[in-house]
Amino acid sequence: MANGTLAVRDLSVSYGRAVQALHQVSLDVPAGSVTAVLGANGAGKTTLLRAISGTLPFHRGAVEAGTVHLGDRPLTGLSPAAVVKAGVVQVPEGRRVFGRLTVADNLRAGALGARSRKEIAASRERVLELFPVLAERAGQRAGLMSGGEQQMLAIGRALMARPAVLLLDEPTLGLAPLMAERIADTVREINMQGTSILLIEQNAALALELSSTAHVLEVGSVALHGPSPELAASDEIRRRYLGVTDEPEVVPEAHLRGPVLERWAG
Ligand code: ATP
Repeated sequence: MANGTLAVRDLSVSYGRAVQALHQVSLDVPAGSVTAVLGANGAGKTTLLRAISGTLPFHRGAVEAGTVHLGDRPLTGLSPAAVVKAGVVQVPEGRRVFGRLTVADNLRAGALGARSRKEIAASRERVLELFPVLAERAGQRAGLMSGGEQQMLAIGRALMARPAVLLLDEPTLGLAPLMAERIADTVREINMQGTSILLIEQNAALALELSSTAHVLEVGSVALHGPSPELAASDEIRRRYLGVTDEPEVVPEAHLRGPVLERWAG
């Protein structure tokens, strides 16, 4: 499997030649990293993933300029199947699974490019270790599972192709906090096992916690980027994406502190 940095350079994308969705976007997903892309609705996050995964034509979109490489291998212009074969797999937004197929068949469908049954079995074992619930539900129709379980299946199905880079589009969207936390733990685990991750999230707090580097997209351009801890501490990010206001903390005057604290304690 090819590996290396996923490098996006000066990528411009339009839909139907009318809507300019991305304008000269550049970013790197270094091998072994979790890199996040944040941004409001319509900023171009999903478009970026479509451009990388070769699925833009399904949405009447096209790359106008720029390149995408995995290591020294160009991905621009490849079919979605060829991009998967090259090692880059997208988990689309909205946990799209084959609802009428069983969990086991969904996983089998993800084993694109596998060379042998042995390889498929090894991938399945890894997926079921990450998501034991998928083993319990192997014979169940995917459409009958909860939203969180469907998200696990969507990620599991993508992992069946043994990607070098996993593209995750809002994996926790619409999930209850506990389930979102479980998905976040799994993202960490997948990364620790050696898969690079490009994580698209509107939940900036979660994305900054999971990633080492983050990029903020605004109206199709990278407005800010840097190490995630630095961005998480920056006033602008805190105010605009983490919902932290600038109101000063109310600290009691020094001479009041003793009695106030005593009253609280008492
Ligand atoms: P969200 O968080 O809402 O999914 P996003 O950051 O992923 O937003 P995109 O879905 O990439 O943003 O959309 C970027 C821009 O491209 C928006 O202006 C959107 O309306 C437009 N767009 C997206 N898909 C299409 C399409 N198939 N045809 C025309 N315009 C589109």
